Amino acid sequence: MDRKLEGGCACGAVRYRMESAPLFVHCCHCLDCQRQTGSAFVINALIETDRVTVLKGETKPNQMPTESGRPHRIFRCPECGTAVWSEYGGVAKLRFVRVGTLDDPKALAPDVHIYVRSKQPWVALPDGVPAFEAYYDSKKLWPAASLERRKAIFG
Ligand SMILES: [Zn+2]
Ligand SMILES: [Zn+2]
Repeated sequence: MDRKLEGGCACGAVRYRMESAPLFVHCCHCLDCQRQTGSAFVINALIETDRVTVLKGETKPNQMPTESGRPHRIFRCPECGTAVWSEYGGVAKLRFVRVGTLDDPKALAPDVHIYVRSKQPWVALPDGVPAFEAYYDSKKLWPAASLERRKAIFG
């Protein structure tokens, strides 16, 4: 990916740019994501925090309750409340950027569908994209270059 992906919130107070392709793109069908988005699923591009340049404004985190007790913070535009990205498990080096906030949301398609056990029955999954009842093993699915980058995050 040579083109840099830019995006922002609904009101324009927050703008950002992804400085490289993401590590991997999740389409999550879990019930938390459905509730938090008010929609059928969320699409998250996983990317190193230091590869996301905030061009304008700042995001404000909201702590989300989780079943597992693992922390999940959603970062929103303080003006319009649009959720721009998430941080899971307190891993500050990794962002889950909401693909729907990109200026060109179709620029990134899901690499994997997760928590399809709770997917809406009318959502048809595409052939050729791995899908899992719950979570998955990134070591088996991510491309080598992404796994290499992952090491820099988790050691
Ligand atoms: Zn906004
Ligand atoms: Zn989810």
